[in-house]
Amino acid sequence: MFKSDYEIKKELCEVGKKIYNDGFVAANDGNFSVQIDKDTYFVTPTGVSKGFMTPDMICKVDGQGNLKEANGQWKPSSEFKMHLKVYQQRPDVKAVVHAHPPIATSFAIAGIPLDKLIMPEAIIFLGAVPIAQYGTPSTMEIPESLEPYLQDYDAILLANHGALSFGCDLNTAFFRMESTEFYAKLLMYARLLGGEKEIPCGEVKKLVDLRKQFGVPGKHPMEKLCPGCYAGDDTCSMSPTDANEKYGVESSAAYHGFQPLPSQVCPTPSNSGNKDIEGIVAEVTKKVLEQMNK
Ligand SMILES: [Zn+2]
Repeated sequence: MFKSDYEIKKELCEVGKKIYNDGFVAANDGNFSVQIDKDTYFVTPTGVSKGFMTPDMICKVDGQGNLKEANGQWKPSSEFKMHLKVYQQRPDVKAVVHAHPPIATSFAIAGIPLDKLIMPEAIIFLGAVPIAQYGTPSTMEIPESLEPYLQDYDAILLANHGALSFGCDLNTAFFRMESTEFYAKLLMYARLLGGEKEIPCGEVKKLVDLRKQFGVPGKHPMEKLCPGCYAGDDTCSMSPTDANEKYGVESSAAYHGFQPLPSQVCPTPSNSGNKDIEGIVAEVTKKVLEQMNK
């Protein structure tokens, strides 16, 4: 699927508007990026509100975060190191979003991970959201703090800071940020109402099986969510938290012979017909131009 540099930059600006209008960032906060290949990325600029970006502000950088093309006064986000860590460790990831959605960030400040299995959509599409240790922004501390979580999760809270989400394309990464905030909001309200009741392990297993059927791209921390009951028993009525306490996260995953869910590639969007034609047209145009230049 061919996309011009301009189209990619425009998409980053559109996501910037959504993130700003949703209140997921204030002032000039937040940053996001898209990977084209191992040495080419588009990154949002530093020092500008993500709600008011125009395509000319987006920076094209290499695998070290250096500008590939001079871009006037615009410099790439100093947090790009954090994005690079994700791209390096997760070859399936093609886009990374960092924001400070207020409720999820409050969980990150309170030190409470989003690991309760409370609603089907969150279990199927998001899994859970752990908290990475606090680090000083723009240093290597944050990238390093992500390492323990990158192979099991698609969204991570940054202690006393915000959230990071990623996926096989920009929309997937953005939706994971949106889902993280929504999940945090539900958990907060449930706690105000006296506390959440988790979905029993046997039911969680059915939801994870659905995730496999749907071919949802990304990683899922099944063995960490519900190890005690991942024995294939759909009738287990224990809550995931009780099961973890009874069996222990590590030992019960090993006992049940848990296999991590395979990482999937991004599904082709249903409207991909037109996009394929665009790609073919672009390819043909390129070939014709090459012929003419001979
Ligand atoms: Zn931040």
